[in-house]
Amino acid sequence: MGHYYDQHINPFCILQPFRVSIVVKMEMSCLWTRRLLLGANSVLLVKHPTTIAFSTFSVTRSILSPPPPLISLFSSSRRSLSTTTSACSSPLHPHSDFGNDAVNDAAAAIPLESQKMLLKGMSYTELEKWVQSYGFRPGQAMMLWKRLYGSGIWAHHVDELQGILLLPILSSLNKDFVKMLGEHAKFKALSLENILTASDGTRKILFRLDDGLVIETVVIPCDRGRTTVCVSSQVGCAMNCQFCFTGRQANNFHVGTLMGLKRHLSTAEIVEQAVFAQRLLTNEVAPFTNVVFMGMGEPLQNIDSVIKAADIMLHDQGLHFSPRKVTVSTSGLVPQLKRFLHESNCALAVSLNATTDEVRNWIMPINRKYDLGLLLQTLREELGLKNSYKVLFEYVMLEGVNDSVDDAYRLIDLVQGIPCKINLIQFNPHCGSLFRPTSTEKMIEFRNILAEAKCLVFMRYSKGDDQMAACGQLGKPGAIPTPLIRVPEQFKLAVNV
Ligand code: SF4
Repeated sequence: MGHYYDQHINPFCILQPFRVSIVVKMEMSCLWTRRLLLGANSVLLVKHPTTIAFSTFSVTRSILSPPPPLISLFSSSRRSLSTTTSACSSPLHPHSDFGNDAVNDAAAAIPLESQKMLLKGMSYTELEKWVQSYGFRPGQAMMLWKRLYGSGIWAHHVDELQGILLLPILSSLNKDFVKMLGEHAKFKALSLENILTASDGTRKILFRLDDGLVIETVVIPCDRGRTTVCVSSQVGCAMNCQFCFTGRQANNFHVGTLMGLKRHLSTAEIVEQAVFAQRLLTNEVAPFTNVVFMGMGEPLQNIDSVIKAADIMLHDQGLHFSPRKVTVSTSGLVPQLKRFLHESNCALAVSLNATTDEVRNWIMPINRKYDLGLLLQTLREELGLKNSYKVLFEYVMLEGVNDSVDDAYRLIDLVQGIPCKINLIQFNPHCGSLFRPTSTEKMIEFRNILAEAKCLVFMRYSKGDDQMAACGQLGKPGAIPTPLIRVPEQFKLAVNV
């Protein structure tokens, strides 16, 4: 039911010669109003700055000739908003904090499509604040949040919010709220490019980003109703791990940026991989139970967006993953690893893959900056401060490189004093790779040595490798590979060079 209030306004200096009365329609269902003091004699009651901005504009146009261009009325707001949104898509700087200025500026004008607020880039607190900035109740933010993440709707468009009004479990959204979302909110950060299904049921999903780049997300159905989604955190990767297809693709898009890395993903682009994949496969696989940040990229090089995305995935009214079921992997960026352990409750995996600096310097060049001693001592100290927290060490087994009996005993020594689990991972070959996978028998022997020393150790076999969806295989086939690092003399035989 609509109600009408007479309003006396005096909002902008360009209207000073005129005293204008207008009627502003107020919806009874939305009494979340603001009282704005605009002058000694003027008290204005509006439900949202957008309402008054456009009311004023239409009045102004009827009085002034020629009409002022829209951009001149809203130029400062449009500039700020465009800064906020472009920061989200800017290469290497995708993260943009959502603060008061962004809220106030976003509220001032209907933006262009590219300037709309990307909903999945906001934490719940930010979404609530943004919704309130348009004069709506926090409860509307919760209803929206559930439609994005928590109700099996996975809304991708404002029209899908309307459609779910038919569902009895969800109460109705205010129609003005839906209208505001249609004007100011963007629901999608990704477009589906392709889905490839491997013989073991693993799906590799290719998503296209707004700037045309493509990322890959892998869905791995497991036993006992468990389904893991593996998300990417960057386009490409700068780490140049020698056994990894992603890290070895040269950057032929943006000359001058880090080798192999095209850009970081924004929070929205990370979160939406899990949401979009669940939406696509909802009738084919069990609901996702685990998220691993082990797709394209070094997650901790994009730590702001990754921590925020992981937090969004934990929200109990949304995706509601357990922190123990969201695992962020790193090749060993020590300062970021410390920060992650301080700021996030999610699980941490460290890609170890060698028991000497000599081998690790070769196959994981990040070791030249943060060597094994520093990496493991940092973990020892940091995990000593946490309760019931185990780091997961990933150990990709490469024949003749890191799979000897001596390696097994060295590994036992290295992880002493660190609460941990160890995953022994079968290497997934790819074109141009120097390495060969360790045989199953040798993996079992290696595993048994660790188990006898009371290490918590598991063997992980390849999944999805016939569609290049397995660990270390993500990326664009045919892309130009980066030059290989010189092979240490004693390993030349093992890798046939
Ligand atoms: S293993 Fe991970 S960190 Fe290393 S190059 Fe591949 S994607 Fe990057």
